[in-house]
Amino acid sequence: MTRDLATHECKGTCDWLPTDEISDGVRIFACKGCASEWAVTQSWTPRNADGQIAPIVQAERDAEQAARQSASTLATEVRPEGPGGGGGGGGW
Ligand SMILES: [Zn+2]
Repeated sequence: MTRDLATHECKGTCDWLPTDEISDGVRIFACKGCASEWAVTQSWTPRNADGQIAPIVQAERDAEQAARQSASTLATEVRPEGPGGGGGGGGW
């Protein structure tokens, strides 16, 4: 269950920090400036007031992308045998 994340107008004082909250298996981040919330599952990436992505946010994004890449690698590696490949041993 994904919970709704708060979004507020940023006031140019953004400072993104991780919270103690985990939702949907990912950590919730919160902006100290405008109280918006963010998780790595969002398609956007928050920036601090100085235009930089907070290192902790970037680290979270990198970790998520690495996990996604290894997951897709696994998905292509672990390919089930084609249909009908019964391996015929005639047990009848
Ligand atoms: Zn903000």
